[in-house]
Amino acid sequence: MKEQFLYEIKKLLKQRFRDSQEQRVLNSYDAMNRMILPDAVAEPVTEEEVASIIMLCAGFRVPVVPRGAGCGFSGGALPVRGGLVLNLSRMNDIVIDRDNLVAEAGPGAVTADVHKAAEAVNLFYPPDPASMAVSTIGGNIAENAGGPRAAKYGVTKEYVLALRVVLADGSIRTFGRPLRKDVAGYNLAPLFVGSEGTLGVITRVWLKLLPKPEAALSSILSFDTALSAARAISAIVAAGLNPSRLEIMDSFCIQSLKEAGHNIDGDPGAVLMVEVDGDAVQLPGQLNRIREVAKKHGLLSFRQAGNEAENEKIWELRRSLSPIINSFGDTKMNEDVVVPRSGIPELFSFVEQLRKKSGLTIVCFGHAGDGNIHVNVMYNAATPDIEEKVETTLHQLFEKVVAMGGSISGEHGIGIAKQRFMRHQFSEAELALMRRIKQVFDPLNLLNPGKILPEPEKTE
Ligand SMILES: Cc1cc2nc3c(=O)[nH]c(=O)nc-3n(C[C@H](O)[C@H](O)[C@H](O)COP(=O)(O)OP(=O)(O)OC[C@H]3O[C@@H](n4cnc5c(N)ncnc54)[C@H](O)[C@@H]3O)c2cc1C
Repeated sequence: MKEQFLYEIKKLLKQRFRDSQEQRVLNSYDAMNRMILPDAVAEPVTEEEVASIIMLCAGFRVPVVPRGAGCGFSGGALPVRGGLVLNLSRMNDIVIDRDNLVAEAGPGAVTADVHKAAEAVNLFYPPDPASMAVSTIGGNIAENAGGPRAAKYGVTKEYVLALRVVLADGSIRTFGRPLRKDVAGYNLAPLFVGSEGTLGVITRVWLKLLPKPEAALSSILSFDTALSAARAISAIVAAGLNPSRLEIMDSFCIQSLKEAGHNIDGDPGAVLMVEVDGDAVQLPGQLNRIREVAKKHGLLSFRQAGNEAENEKIWELRRSLSPIINSFGDTKMNEDVVVPRSGIPELFSFVEQLRKKSGLTIVCFGHAGDGNIHVNVMYNAATPDIEEKVETTLHQLFEKVVAMGGSISGEHGIGIAKQRFMRHQFSEAELALMRRIKQVFDPLNLLNPGKILPEPEKTE
């Protein structure tokens, strides 16, 4: 970083410009488990400060990487071309507009705090990524995060009414309005949802809220095999039963949870966690209909939560899964593929074939209710020739998923983790169009460079 840049940015941010080794390390990783040191870290508290920082970076050609909590799984917050990490966690205020069912927040607001603020006035913000105790709303929007409730309520994009964004030249622009209807002009707010900080820095958000459902009731259903459970999921969806959360864990997850001291009845091949919400009187009947459908698909046991605390315990168990399965190896390729919900049994059969063919441990769990399954290839990196085997297996997985009409990522984003698989899903012409959009918003390629899009092929 040039002397003049350092002088200007220190004058602007004072002690909120940080270049100590400690602060650089703290902002050098995300949940992808890779570390890349930024040259420095900026901690703005207003969007005017963000705009001034971006203007300075543009003037001195310094790459800028927006960062929320750094719990993304795809390396999105890693400064792969060096430069400045823009840590937005201090911009975390939340204002609830009770009359219009809207939450307005800074990008650094923690997701669970948005939930609490809405629930305090009997409203409801549905997106519930398992990381919600730490993840930020800015990070959720930039990744279009989902969670178990996406089965009924959809993902983050369904709740973004408007965004204020600092563009690559430092201008502050608003896209969308906090209204239920608005068709004026091109709808650009959704372009920023899932754009992983590559098109602009989100500095203010307006989110749609819903009335809080009166009650929720959860249950755990165990099955003889993962394939039976997968068939039950497709049957529950096809029967129009619309659970608010519907998650699957395979036998590897169950083994890990047991080893970690959790209590799971029997020795099932897979477990479904199912929640229904709405009118309290009707919930037991709804769960019973789900149970009846599951009985036709190898249901071994059914346990219903007795009270709210037990209900929450089931979902805490689910949220604890991702780190717990690390016992299967020192390295995890954590994929989050999506298939049409009727295709879940086919996906599970295919993963079983991959396990047999490759000899790899492949652990599956996730948001079965919306077709988004976390397929985790677990291994020890020191094993000879293992990386090549894993890579081949992943390519086979993505090829199959796309052939089924699915997607290579449902919620974790592309970042640097999945760039090399983008050609499974997009043609060169489609990728070229995306590059042109990036060029329009960020002509100097300074906003989170090196993410999402693979390098063009030589002929392009
Ligand atoms: C245990 C665990 C469980 C998880 N479970 C889920 C889950 O259920 N569902 C799910 O969807 N994800 C899940 N994730 C992934 C992760 O939590 C989400 O991707 C989350 O949205 C990341 O938020 P963050 O604030 O940590 O963003 P970061 O990791 O800091 O950043 C993610 C991306 O967003 C960009 N970004 C951040 N803030 C802004 C901003 N203000 N403006 C522009 N760009 C910005 C960054 O540049 C980066 O590209 C999980 C992660 C962990 C570790």
